[in-house]
Amino acid sequence: MILSMAELTWPEVAEAVATGATTLILPLGATEQHGPHLPLGTDTYRAEALAERLASIMPNALVAPTLPVGCSDEHQGFAGLLGLERETLAGVIVDCARRATKWGVQQLVVVSAHGGNADALELAAGRLERELPHLRVALLGAGTALSDAILAVAAADGIPAVAVGLHAGEGETSEMLALRPDLVRMHRATAGCRDGLKDIMPRLRRDGLRSVTSTGILGDATAACADRGHRYLAAEIQAYRDVLRQGPAASEGPSR
Ligand SMILES: [Zn+2]
Repeated sequence: MILSMAELTWPEVAEAVATGATTLILPLGATEQHGPHLPLGTDTYRAEALAERLASIMPNALVAPTLPVGCSDEHQGFAGLLGLERETLAGVIVDCARRATKWGVQQLVVVSAHGGNADALELAAGRLERELPHLRVALLGAGTALSDAILAVAAADGIPAVAVGLHAGEGETSEMLALRPDLVRMHRATAGCRDGLKDIMPRLRRDGLRSVTSTGILGDATAACADRGHRYLAAEIQAYRDVLRQGPAASEGPSR
């Protein structure tokens, strides 16, 4: 059973904490373009799914509601962008953590499904260390800066890294076909920018996605399939498990 805070009453949360549920999983999503075929809430759906899957192997964890807005300014110029300054997002994480420690939380596990949140996570990590030194903190990206776990699954299926893509490509599209196929417009899926990450990263950082892809896709969304999406999610959870085993202050690299 997943201990979803939004669905529990306060006595139920108090009882869960008293019987050992002292870990809080906080999922971070985003509201931003994901190509012409995926919904703006793609990262929010992915964050929620990853948090729930993680909770299923951490029975003593409470799952906080997913934060649906993150740091997404690299998507300026596309309709539908909402976003926070990195100081704001870091502040939200620290503010929530401070309240949670008051009712018994001893470990915070932040699951971010959006790579743009990475700077805010770093900022939050420093503040948490200073302001809540007794709270154990783990910051988990969604593994999709083409992490080894994801790329191993893709390679086994003959999918090259440039097709998996950093954003709205085969990787995220496969995951959304696994999670919410009703929201995927596969007839609109196309191949976007397929240049190597190293080549486009400086431009991406400076000028945003609009400068390298008119559709908003990095990768090839047409190669997506639901079965591989399930395997990506499982690989990401396995990677999380490994990171969490390494102990406090663990963190996993940036994600899409
Ligand atoms: Zn995304």
